[in-house]
Amino acid sequence: MRHGSPGQTGRRRLRRSRKRLAELRPDALHCKHCNTTIPEVHTMDTTGMEGIEAAFAGVCGHCMRTTWSLKGNPEAVAMTKVAIEDSTAGSGVAG
Ligand SMILES: [Zn+2]
Repeated sequence: MRHGSPGQTGRRRLRRSRKRLAELRPDALHCKHCNTTIPEVHTMDTTGMEGIEAAFAGVCGHCMRTTWSLKGNPEAVAMTKVAIEDSTAGSGVAG
């Protein structure tokens, strides 16, 4: 876990995010590409993702692609998904 990013802008919302995250976190994801169940769900850092309450991701053991699950305001979710898919297309996932 890295922390200490300066310049947290705007309203200090989601101080409760830890607990909220646990509530939102799915037990498993389903691969968007081949529909395989992904039992290992990673909680992602949503810092800087406007309108996103929580983000989860898992790597499919079958096709090795990453599936994301985003929670938040629907518009933000849609935009963030596009951004993620753009930036991760064809690349591996850095650990
Ligand atoms: Zn898959």
